[in-house]
Amino acid sequence: MPQGVVILGSTGSIGRNALRVIDALGPDYRVVGLSAHRNIELLAQQARRYKPHSVAVTHADSVAGLRALLDGRTEILSGPDSLTQLVQDGQADTVLTAVVGAAGLPSALAAARAGKRLAIANKEPLVMAGELLTRTAREHGSTLLPVDSEHSAVFQVLHGSANGCGYEARHVGRQTSDGTSLATDPRSTSIIERILLTGSGGPFRGAGARELQEATLEQALSHPTWRMGPKITIDSATLMNKALEVIEARWLFEVPVERIEVLIHPESIVHSLVEFVDGSVLAQLGEPDMCLPIQYALTYPRRVRGLSKRLRLEEIGALHFERPDPSTFRALPLAYEVVRAGGTAAAVFNAANEAAVAEFLAGRVRFPQIMELVEHCLNRHTVRPITGLVELLEADAWARKEVKDRLCVSR
Ligand code: MG
Repeated sequence: MPQGVVILGSTGSIGRNALRVIDALGPDYRVVGLSAHRNIELLAQQARRYKPHSVAVTHADSVAGLRALLDGRTEILSGPDSLTQLVQDGQADTVLTAVVGAAGLPSALAAARAGKRLAIANKEPLVMAGELLTRTAREHGSTLLPVDSEHSAVFQVLHGSANGCGYEARHVGRQTSDGTSLATDPRSTSIIERILLTGSGGPFRGAGARELQEATLEQALSHPTWRMGPKITIDSATLMNKALEVIEARWLFEVPVERIEVLIHPESIVHSLVEFVDGSVLAQLGEPDMCLPIQYALTYPRRVRGLSKRLRLEEIGALHFERPDPSTFRALPLAYEVVRAGGTAAAVFNAANEAAVAEFLAGRVRFPQIMELVEHCLNRHTVRPITGLVELLEADAWARKEVKDRLCVSR
């Protein structure tokens, strides 16, 4: 039986790459569900080609348009619960979630609750609800597979280093041979000294606070090595992307946040590294191309031939590494504070940033104001413990409103 795959966010950059990967993997994989927010032309095109059972469109006004583009044989789901319905499809083995923003959280939790393999390409489920999501996955036998290139790198290193030394790769939902859950097995993280997450440094690498004052939207959108959507590209320019990745790694690999460090690496060839207790450092390298981490999440624990361009180190010549500047790029030190604060802090961190980036993309705030708004929200927020989705969504909504209110006051 082919592996049934649902892709949430199939019209975005990750979603389109995932379909290319599935094309290349051949008949072992079958698309059983697709979703988009409002790009119904592309969604309809994909639905005609891959013939999934169902498609979901989350933008309510786009449903009629989509229906007109399809032949009636594909079930169309719509509205806020449509993604949650889609991931519960009985023929779905793997759910790849690549929905922009907090909107992907309920469906990620639903996929974990349904015991699916959950390939996570967007950061929000782990950032906002890391504790809740990893616990849910563990309780329902769902496997979490990172698609973010850095986390995929760490995951691949841990999987590789686990063979033959008594440790399975540390990942949620999988049991060790003696039956203990790896997520709670102290041995599973005790071999990790540090996780080094690499980042290109974005378009403003090396810039000081004064240069950031003058930064334009066009400059912020020109990422040196990766081609991605606008939101994540801005997050790469503020280093918020790396800050969110620190939080993501803390939950995926269950290491204390003090053991996670960020290393700026402008060539984007070393996708991340793990230093083990014996001093050995293992890394995963490759061309900057999301097809590889997407493919690994789909084929794990197997490796197969795929689309990725071969790495030729002799053509690259030199690889560089440097420390990020936490006083200019405030997102990084804030991430550590957010993890220590726990509870709803990370949801506020994430939502305030989403709202502030939207304001920047719309030309209503300057580049440095993005992090000022995020910091303002964190300072004003009273952290609450999380018992379920409710507190998270409340904190998320509070932060978005706080950004708007702050801008109204200052205008
Ligand atoms: Mg990344």
